[in-house]
Amino acid sequence: MNGARAAELAANLARVEERVTRACVTAGRAREEVTLVVVTKTYPAEDVRLLAGLGVRHVAENRDQEAAAKAAACADLPLKWHFVGQLQTNKARSVVRYADYVHSVDRVRLVSALSSAVVNAGRAPLKCFVQVALEKEEGAAGAEDGPGRGGAPPGGAAAVAAAVTEAPGLELAGVMTVAPLSGPYAGAPAAAFARLVNLARDLRRVDPAATMVSAGMSGDLEEAIAAGATHVRVGTAVLGVRPALR
Ligand SMILES: *Cc1c(COP(=O)(O)O)cnc(C)c1O
Repeated sequence: MNGARAAELAANLARVEERVTRACVTAGRAREEVTLVVVTKTYPAEDVRLLAGLGVRHVAENRDQEAAAKAAACADLPLKWHFVGQLQTNKARSVVRYADYVHSVDRVRLVSALSSAVVNAGRAPLKCFVQVALEKEEGAAGAEDGPGRGGAPPGGAAAVAAAVTEAPGLELAGVMTVAPLSGPYAGAPAAAFARLVNLARDLRRVDPAATMVSAGMSGDLEEAIAAGATHVRVGTAVLGVRPALR
């Protein structure tokens, strides 16, 4: 059974790797410029272990409780853990115990909470991406729709980035987005990612070392790589379709 799952993951991973490589070739970029982050949410630690055996080195989770347990179960593996979900300030202490990167930093209050948690833990600096919600672009109709998936409005990203660079224990990695389902970029991932890359360029005035761009998932990794993404976050295409969203 484990063997069958290992074979399935290997085949899926090979297909994704081929897509990433082809997208890099098309964009005239080196394959090493793009890091594949495999999003393992809802899948068990055994799958993470199999993926590590297949050469995966970066994994992502979006819920602290699940992530903490999985990271503990996989502590012996040479993995970097990325946290990509909406994050409450009261979870900061837990997240800094296992996360190397947080992709969902979207407000100054969260910056403060992460900074205190890192300092108290006495750990290595936490790399932070400022998450940008392009559906909150100024003037966008329905910008306040729905419960929201997190992210700072584009006009607020620089303030969050500046807070990260000034916060002890934190390093500004760059910017992150999820292709919007509403607003001016709905159904236009290429345009959304181009906008994100422009914002990344602006933020490099705040911190020239913040060169990372986290964009692209199973359905739009090609558009993200074409736009300049350095990190693609791929779940479904590697692990399979997740059970209904919780
Ligand atoms: C789940 C998730 C992904 C992966 O999405 P897939 O479509 O399964 O590849 C990427 N980024 C974030 C923030 C996610 O929550």
